[in-house]
Amino acid sequence: MTSYYINEIFPSVQGEGAKTGCPAVFVRFQGCSVRCPWCDTKYTWKGGAKCASLVPASEIFVKDRKAGCALIEKEALVRDITGRYPNIPLVILTGGEPCEQDIGPLCESLRARGLDIAVETSGHVDFDFPDYVYVVVSPKLGVPNGELVPRMARRADEIKYVIGNEADLERMKPLRVAYPDKLFCLQPKSQDKEATRLCFEYVINRSGKLRLSLQTEKMIDIR
Ligand code: SF4
Repeated sequence: MTSYYINEIFPSVQGEGAKTGCPAVFVRFQGCSVRCPWCDTKYTWKGGAKCASLVPASEIFVKDRKAGCALIEKEALVRDITGRYPNIPLVILTGGEPCEQDIGPLCESLRARGLDIAVETSGHVDFDFPDYVYVVVSPKLGVPNGELVPRMARRADEIKYVIGNEADLERMKPLRVAYPDKLFCLQPKSQDKEATRLCFEYVINRSGKLRLSLQTEKMIDIR
């Protein structure tokens, strides 16, 4: 029996990257070993990857950025998602870091119900995704524990890169050279004005598949 440590589940629209605006059910996994200083989901670290204190599965749907997680069996999880949100065709597995748990069986079960699946990962875990999964890799270069696995960069349908300053643009350069055909979504760190200007100028002055990724969910104050 496969079960998952889940921090929260909620319906929303994707606020970032190439699928901005798409309605989706977000399944936020507990835990991430990368621990970026600027992480905006630090509450998924509290209690560790397996959660010191488990909460009932029903609480996961109303939690809203609190510490604590539930351990939910795969088929029960799929039933909950499809039962509660029958009209939403896309499920986004996010975190925390979803690839630190074996999400393969969950992807299969969701797909068997006809759902589209996207996974948001930092790319530090080597994971074998089925073709039908849309993979968003958000590399955390320069962060200890965040080393990018090359196979994950090759598999990415979209590379979402967080930019805070010029040094981040420099750090991204080798990635763009190594993966010239990839879609790169440049996302200003923490909606900072100067970072936004850097990203804007980059995408209008460079060639390649580039997008400016604004955190629209924060602009309209939704999750
Ligand atoms: S990789 Fe993502 S989830 Fe993990 S600590 Fe960094 S920002 Fe947070």
